[in-house]
Amino acid sequence: MSSHHSGYFGEFGGRFSPEVLIGALDELERTYLSLKNKNRFKKEFKELSRDYSGRPSRLTFAPRLTEAWKGAGIWLKREDLNHTGSHKINNALGQALIAREMGKKRLIAETGAGQHGVATATAAARFGFACTVYMGEEDVRRQKLNCIRMEMLGAEVRPVISGSGTLKDATNEAMRDWARTVADTHYVIGSVIGPHPFPTIVRDFQSVIGKEARKQMKKKTGALPDAVVACVGGGSNAIGIFSGFLKDKKVRLIGVEAGGRGDMAGDNSASITFGQVGYFHGTRSLYIQTDQGQIQNVHSVSAGLDYPGVGPEHAHLAVSHRAEYFKIGDDAALDSFLEAARMEGIVPALETAHAFAFAKKLAPEMGKKANILICLSGRGDKDVAEVARLKGIRTDV
Ligand SMILES: *Cc1c(COP(=O)(O)O)cnc(C)c1O
Repeated sequence: MSSHHSGYFGEFGGRFSPEVLIGALDELERTYLSLKNKNRFKKEFKELSRDYSGRPSRLTFAPRLTEAWKGAGIWLKREDLNHTGSHKINNALGQALIAREMGKKRLIAETGAGQHGVATATAAARFGFACTVYMGEEDVRRQKLNCIRMEMLGAEVRPVISGSGTLKDATNEAMRDWARTVADTHYVIGSVIGPHPFPTIVRDFQSVIGKEARKQMKKKTGALPDAVVACVGGGSNAIGIFSGFLKDKKVRLIGVEAGGRGDMAGDNSASITFGQVGYFHGTRSLYIQTDQGQIQNVHSVSAGLDYPGVGPEHAHLAVSHRAEYFKIGDDAALDSFLEAARMEGIVPALETAHAFAFAKKLAPEMGKKANILICLSGRGDKDVAEVARLKGIRTDV
């Protein structure tokens, strides 16, 4: 193990990685720092974001949810409208540009719901990289559509059978692959987790969400939102939208974790609510652990939130009280998935449905003069089969 002095958010973050990866992490940090202010890089990233991903993403008012929830105005930042259907493409394209600069030939990724795998496979196709995506076998089952998409995009999906067959286990395997192949391979981490510099790089690429949303809210409502609500798996869509409002102390920043089927260990993945300080996947943060300090298998109906930890910047925002974190269970998320579909004509990802379910509780508390901005992190096509199964919706039409 080797630790690193930079990349801390308060007491969280840093770098706690095996020696074999230190050279690659240093190279990544160096390349990113030298690229990020270069005009050719900024121009290429901006053009890709606009002409390939479809940025800026829209800000949409939700009239029927606003009326039904009897409180604050509800506004949606539409990351579901990005190419490939979620915020993940913002980061995958950015890291692909860095990988090309480093002369790498292959991209690897972990994925839970498959959105990050699809985004990485897409970036790999666009730039001509080989691509391998690790995905837990439970997630392969519940997110079949995205598996087929990745294979069609030319990536190889490797199912992971260890542990609970979910995101944590896929991340373990991707890290193992990287340790063997680091000379020609870049590991595109999909959230604000992992060793320094990943949490910073991913945050920077996702900060476009918050920058755009801040301007759009001002333009459409004449003011900043009173609260910003986002679901938190590793925390990348939440950090992306929060980062636009961190300095606006009056704006409440609210992260929504997966409450799963209950508060018992193993039944949820609410890492800020139930986690303790620890070291995992190369960084110091909050993790759900057993009494012996082992990482706990966790659960959420939503594969993208099914991770036992949270990015170090969120841990810092939580302990410093700049952001608040709450949990929403599987059942409430499933109800909100259908409510958004039927009231607004928008099928959100199951991950995002957790943010809707919390906003529904918050809206009447905040009152009609307030505005709530929800990060609509992705679309729910990938979830329709699983939601139909769990909610008994007919599929034999
Ligand atoms: C991956 C994913 C998430 C969870 O990841 P974060 O890093 O916490 O954003 C949330 N929503 C969607 C649509 C996702 O694809």
